[in-house]
This record gives sequence, structure tokens and C-alpha cells, in this order.
Amino acid sequence: MGATKNGRRGKVVRMNASSRPLHARIHLDAIRHNYRIAKASAPSSRALAVVKANAYGHGAIEVARALAPEADGFAVACLEEALELRESGIRDRILLLEGVFAPDELAQVDAAELTMVVHCREQLDWVLAARPERPLRCWIKVDSGMHRVGFAPGDFGAIHAALGACAHVGELGAITHFARADEPGHPFIQRQLADFDRALGGKAVMSSLSNSAAVLSLPRAHRDWTRPGIMLYGISPFVASHPAAAELRPAMTLESAIIAVRDLAPGEPLGYGGRFVCDRPTRVGVAAVGYADGYPRHAPDGTPLAVAGRPTRLIGRVSMDMIMLDLTGMEDVGLGAPVQLWGDRVPAAEVAQAAGTIAYELFTGIGRRVPLIHEGV
Ligand SMILES: *Cc1c(COP(=O)(O)O)cnc(C)c1O
Repeated sequence: MGATKNGRRGKVVRMNASSRPLHARIHLDAIRHNYRIAKASAPSSRALAVVKANAYGHGAIEVARALAPEADGFAVACLEEALELRESGIRDRILLLEGVFAPDELAQVDAAELTMVVHCREQLDWVLAARPERPLRCWIKVDSGMHRVGFAPGDFGAIHAALGACAHVGELGAITHFARADEPGHPFIQRQLADFDRALGGKAVMSSLSNSAAVLSLPRAHRDWTRPGIMLYGISPFVASHPAAAELRPAMTLESAIIAVRDLAPGEPLGYGGRFVCDRPTRVGVAAVGYADGYPRHAPDGTPLAVAGRPTRLIGRVSMDMIMLDLTGMEDVGLGAPVQLWGDRVPAAEVAQAAGTIAYELFTGIGRRVPLIHEGV
């Protein structure tokens, strides 16, 4: 008991429904712990738990349900992600981080009582032309320097006035996003902060600026609502190591098992392209996980992993369904031995760095055929 296994698209998959030994264990108690760190780091702010992209691959419904008793609200990337949470019983605030993509979504934003970002003229026009049954909640996106989406700081006053004068707009907020909050102390952070404040021109507008990195390192940006994402999943948001991230607990353990073992002589090549060549008598283990499951194909020889709790390394090119690893000197490890790809013993950030990416991409890239096992429900 206590563990449920869930497939994608809301379909319930029975325990042990997958024949392969590969699964991702999701530690919901770690996510609750990490959310509490976000709250304690910004004690005067409310925190929207960012659960876009299926909660960064951790299962949006299960994560939202686990956090709902204490979370102030949630943030997602699109209407479908928001409705999935509403349908699973989440009643808290849900923010659409990119607002709507077409005007016909506004009826559902209204019916589901969602909060939306308004980041461009078209969205502004759609909101002004809408005829909702309840007042719409709009957070005006300010482009304070990221230059991805949002209104120029100088336009904020006019947009705020237009929405403020609209009878069917209720709550009004201001939101911006940092481009370099993961590099604490970088002068661009202060420039964005100053440009955001200048945009508001001293008006008392409910504001939201902080992603995980700013939650942990930038108290001046905490304001009314924070938006922690990656930190909830136990990953440091910082480029370099930072003490503020030390208490985070990893929330995903990607595990498989050894499905074949062989001994190779020095000089023998291994796997596609013979990328790895044995430089000594080598005991090779094969584990059931590959790039179709989300294990990065660009992981080089030497990428860390753990077998039966002991550290070892990837050898040979990652294939679609299998990887090879070095079992030399681990004579006692055989078929069925557990292999941890990332988790408590193998930091996902180290695997990501070895493969030239970030843990965000590893987590969101977990393949559909990998069952998620939620623990600590
Ligand atoms: C994804 C996202 C966040 C969360 O960022 P993390 O780095 O994962 O904390 C916050 N705000 C916006 C606008 C986002 O798109």
C-alpha cells in the first residue's frame, strides 16, 4: 500500500503492468518537503507550485494532490494542463503562465476560474472583448529583460489602465521572469528588478517575479507570489553549487535492472559505433533503459550511475532500449541487480551535465513507457 502506479493521460495502469524492470519512483514526501523550503525561504509570499509539463515529468495530478493541502496554488503552461488539475479535484488557484493561445479558450478560463497571464496585444484585445460570467483574473506580463514574452515596461501603465477600466476584469497582477536568476549576483538580475519596478511606477500591484533560483537567493524579488518549479523536484536551480539548495531532496529515482552480463577481452569494442573499447578485461552489464525512455543519448562514457547501490559508469553509446555499464570488479552483481540512473545516489544534475543538458530536460523527457510509481501518497 502507499504506492500507486499511473500511466499517462489519466489512464490507471495496474501495479507491475510493465514487463520491463524500468520505472521512475516519485517521492511525494520529498516534493512536500521542497515546497516547504520554498515557503520558508519566502515567508511573506504565497507560492504557486509550478506543475507544468506533467509536473516536470513527476505526474501533475499526483503532485498537485500531494501539495493541495498546503499549496497556495499552482502554475501550468496551458489550458489542458489546468483542466486536468480541475478535473482531478484541485480547487486552488491555477495560473496559466502563457495565458490563452486563442480567444475561444476564455470561456473555459472563466468556467474553471483560472488566472491567466496577459502578455501581448492580441491577448489584451481578446480579454477586453470577452463576455465572461465572472470577472477575469489577469496578470500582466512585463518584459523586464528576458525578451521572450511580455509588454515593454513603458507600456505597463496603459495596459493596466485598460484592463482596470474593463468591467469584466477582476483581479489584476503583474508578473515577470528572470533570465539569469540561476547566477546569483549577476548584474542583469538587478537590471530586471529595476526595470520591473519602474514599469509599475510605484503603483501597488500584486506581483510575481521569482522562479526557484530567485526564491532561494533574491529576497527583494519575493513579493506577493513566488513560482518555484525545479526546486520542488529536488534539483538546485543554480548554475554553480549554492548553499541555499543544500536542503532540497531529490524527488525522482529512475531505476532499472541488469538484464545481461558478459566478459570482454581487452581491445573489444562495445555497442553502436564501437565508441567504447575495452582497455582491460571488462565485465559488462546491460540495463533496460535507453533514449526512448528519456535517458540522454548524448551521455558519454563515464556518465555516473549506481548498480546495487555502488557507483559505476556508463560505457558505450546509449541505444533506444538499453545501455551498457562497467561491472568490472563487481563479480557478485548479476542478472536482476538494480541500476539507478538518477536519484539519491546519482544526482540527476550530474547526469545532465555529463550529457550536455539540464535536469529539467531529463525529467520532462521521461518516456511514455516508463511507469511512474508514486510513494508517500
Ligand atoms: C517554468 C517557469 C517557472 C519555474 O521555473 P523554475 O526554474 O523551474 O523554478 C516560473 N515562472 C515561469 C514563467 C515559468 O515558465
